[in-house]
Amino acid sequence: MNSTINMKAEHEKVWGECLAIIKDILPPQAFDVWFVPIRPLSIEDKKLTLLLPSSYFYEMLEDRYCDLLFMVLNRVIGTGAKLNYRVMMTNSGDAPTLVDQSGGRRQNAGQGQTVFNPFQGHASKKVDSQLNHNYTFANFVEGVCNQLARSAGMSIAEHPGKNAFNPMFIYGGSGLGKTHLANAIGLEAERLNPNLNVLYVSANKFQTQYMEATRNNNSTDFLNFYQSLDVLIVDDIQDMASRTGTQNTFFHIFNHLHQAGKQLILTSDQSPNVLQGLEHRILSRFKWGLSAELVPPDFNTKKDILLNKVKAEGLLIPEDVVDYIAGAVTDNVRELEGVVSSLLAQSILINAEINLDLAQKVVGKIANTTSKVVNISKIQEVVCDYYNLEVNDIQTKSRKRVVVQARQVAMYLARKYTKNSLTAIGELIGNRDHATVLHACKTVAEQSEIDKELRQSLDSIEEKLR
Ligand code: ADP
Ligand code: MG
Repeated sequence: MNSTINMKAEHEKVWGECLAIIKDILPPQAFDVWFVPIRPLSIEDKKLTLLLPSSYFYEMLEDRYCDLLFMVLNRVIGTGAKLNYRVMMTNSGDAPTLVDQSGGRRQNAGQGQTVFNPFQGHASKKVDSQLNHNYTFANFVEGVCNQLARSAGMSIAEHPGKNAFNPMFIYGGSGLGKTHLANAIGLEAERLNPNLNVLYVSANKFQTQYMEATRNNNSTDFLNFYQSLDVLIVDDIQDMASRTGTQNTFFHIFNHLHQAGKQLILTSDQSPNVLQGLEHRILSRFKWGLSAELVPPDFNTKKDILLNKVKAEGLLIPEDVVDYIAGAVTDNVRELEGVVSSLLAQSILINAEINLDLAQKVVGKIANTTSKVVNISKIQEVVCDYYNLEVNDIQTKSRKRVVVQARQVAMYLARKYTKNSLTAIGELIGNRDHATVLHACKTVAEQSEIDKELRQSLDSIEEKLR
């Protein structure tokens, strides 16, 4: 009995201390909205369980304040602190039920999570759009870098399928806002017309669902489900490269939806003109509508994005610091956000004042640790540049020594740095089969053990990739 009382006192004490720190940091309104409604339930082995009012609340809290919560918790309980959530749900007058939610960052779909399977269930039911509610137009800062894509996106949301931008193909480098914009269009379309069946899906998830459907003899349901949508958003379509079956099915869905006047929105890290590994008939359809590129933001847009983010976090950052960050972080919005989160962390953890000096340290750290995205095109580019070849050279059947070596090195690095299958790597680099790729990988690995020159070549190529 006594111990229960003590444990109860403990979790309330811990949460009370956390709240005191959070209250100091956040603007009063944010604190009232996001922290006052939370109740501590228990603490066990440094694991604090909190009760949240709803699933939506949980998702918002996780997205906005996960880092803050963990830092504060670590400070109060010590390292190794864990967080567990329970969500209060009221179902049509039933007594509230408790639903466990895992603590920590939510995982991306497809990573150790049960894959969402939308086509199980009643066909006429409204589809859960899978959209990320944090990615709205309201917080998608406008700049020259995204003006065309943003305004086309808005008009699509107003008249999905009934516009000249079908499909809308959004492309650009990593961290420039493709996923954000695609979600914003979906959300706005849903807001304007709540009856629309909108679905956001990553190409990888689409692929997994398709394979599962095939395995379970469910292909027809899969096809019917996708063909019943009003707006289909497929993110990172480049991930469908060399997946013939998936591409085939997608091709049918695309045609069906397009003919029925339904909206398609696709994103990719490359323009449809240079996307490799996708069938010609699909690529040519991508060019039917509008291809809109997102380019790195200019200085002023970076400043606007920063100020927006700073405001959302309830931080105060002096103008010279904002200018410095906008100038120093080159071209990736994700990095800008990383800097703000890091500054927030520093100001909480060591109570540091956010000034130019701190910003310089943080930017230095982020710039060093954020690795660039390495894809097969990039690898081919860097390898060919190193060997003084054109990318086309390694795509040929040439058996010239330098070409063979460059091709093998590219295959080896593609295996090392990307998640592509051997088959995909082979198709993208010189249209070879998977056995050739496997052989190349083995050869390079073995040779580099004994051949100093090759080792040095690999080192300098890998240096350029990082
Ligand atoms: P991509 O899909 O192109 O890799 P994301 O859409 O995931 O990039 O964007 C990376 C991060 O940068 C996201 O958190 C997103 O909200 C933010 N972001 C990108 N562009 C903007 C913008 N114009 N305004 C506000 N935030 C942005
Ligand atoms: Mg993305």
